[in-house]
Amino acid sequence: MSTDLHDLSVAQLAAKLAAREVSSVELTQHFLARIENNAGLGAFLATDSEVSLTQARAADARLTAGERTPLLGVPLAHKDIFVTRDFPTTAGSKMLKNYRSPFDATVVARLGVGSGAGMVSLGKLNCDEFAMGSGNDNSAYRPVQNPWDTTRVPGGSSGGSAAAVAARLVPAATGTDTGGSIRQPAALTGITGIKPTYGRCSRYGMVAFASSLDQAGPMARSALDCALLLSSMAGPDPDRDSTSLDLPALDYATNLIAAGAAATGATPLKGLRIGLPAQFFGAGCSADVLKTVRGALAEFEKLGATLVDVSLPLTELSIPVYYVIAPAEASSNLSRFDGVRYGHRAAHYTDLTDMYKKSRSEGFGDEVTRRIMIGTYVLSHGYYDAYYLKAQKIRRLIAEDFQKAFTQCDIIAGPVSPTVAWKIGEKSDDPVANYLADIYTLSSSLAGLPGMSVPAGFGEGGMPVGLQLIGNYFKEAQLLGTAHQFQLATDWHLRQPTGI
Ligand code: GLN
Repeated sequence: MSTDLHDLSVAQLAAKLAAREVSSVELTQHFLARIENNAGLGAFLATDSEVSLTQARAADARLTAGERTPLLGVPLAHKDIFVTRDFPTTAGSKMLKNYRSPFDATVVARLGVGSGAGMVSLGKLNCDEFAMGSGNDNSAYRPVQNPWDTTRVPGGSSGGSAAAVAARLVPAATGTDTGGSIRQPAALTGITGIKPTYGRCSRYGMVAFASSLDQAGPMARSALDCALLLSSMAGPDPDRDSTSLDLPALDYATNLIAAGAAATGATPLKGLRIGLPAQFFGAGCSADVLKTVRGALAEFEKLGATLVDVSLPLTELSIPVYYVIAPAEASSNLSRFDGVRYGHRAAHYTDLTDMYKKSRSEGFGDEVTRRIMIGTYVLSHGYYDAYYLKAQKIRRLIAEDFQKAFTQCDIIAGPVSPTVAWKIGEKSDDPVANYLADIYTLSSSLAGLPGMSVPAGFGEGGMPVGLQLIGNYFKEAQLLGTAHQFQLATDWHLRQPTGI
């Protein structure tokens, strides 16, 4: 068997499977061996070769029966925030150690072999506890290493997903993004990821962090691969998630391939106006990241796009606003972990209140506890108007600023993260330092807009830099198409860390 199967994209693997040049069982074995050989990265929290091989055999049976669908038999892995029947689900927390869900999240089911697209799950990917973090160092189990430099973080909270894709342990993975957790780890590990419009993918079966912000999305090496996954992940789920959008899932990938083929001219992006918010290019961004992002923007100009200056004046306020709203929602969502119904229960306690207290104190890590306390505070009588209500009002103004900017441009671009990946441990004791690193991703999350990270080159220490593209509501196809044109003209997304 060829040893470079892991270098192939989702699209290429699917083509090989469809041509019966390789079986899903062979692919699964190949990737499972890579996962085992690179266990030191800490990307996976659970694998089970018997489960994966059973799924692969089911996919092979569908292929043998003549079925040809775009993802059939291709392996992937899920962020451990999606509940799964076949693997344990921990949400990166001790609270859910060994927890088994009786059902699959909608996104997992839609991608899976049972009745879905036919992808084979290789297991569950490490993440920050309850998806709270920016470096994957809040995982209760262990930090994840960045495959480009194992002394650095891969970003968070979908750090395991990002590291696994970048190290080619999986061709693609799911992630979730509440305030940047798909885009930022994608940027810090040199892969592609898209956070769709809020509501595009069902939240059913995603362990809830901040329900008005949480959104699932794909992480892979290219925009085309993300498009393939998103086509199966997205779509309404009215009986299970009332906030899922009542819009049909689109075939993003075919659109991309058609647009790529049609773009025979040298300027396929002619007519596209890319807005550059002054606030994304200021002093807060490190020089290496700015230079790399500007280099990528020059490439977009060569492809025919025009760059225009826009303003998102409330960008700075997105940090305090997000860190009021997200903890407020988290404090409510996490009240379900009380030691009674599921999750950790303290071994010794005196009465019911003591059981609640001990179970929660033992089960939750420091960052989660901090957010529950902040959230409870800002929702409490006497502080609700001053903090929570005020934050909600500014959230509305932030969304309005985007709409003003979109009268001048079609897509907004800028950095994803103000720096490249930092050293593991560097920000572990400083929550505010982590919060500040979210400056460029939070505002579009608060507005519910789709955003993506596209590999744009390398900065300090040879570490990957991501370009962020933010679209207007429901414009995932435009974002993916724009990124695809950039990736047809550049090869940043094909660069790979050495030694893995
Ligand atoms: N870094 C942000 C936080 O800690 C975003 C996390 C996320 O998107 N899940 O909340």
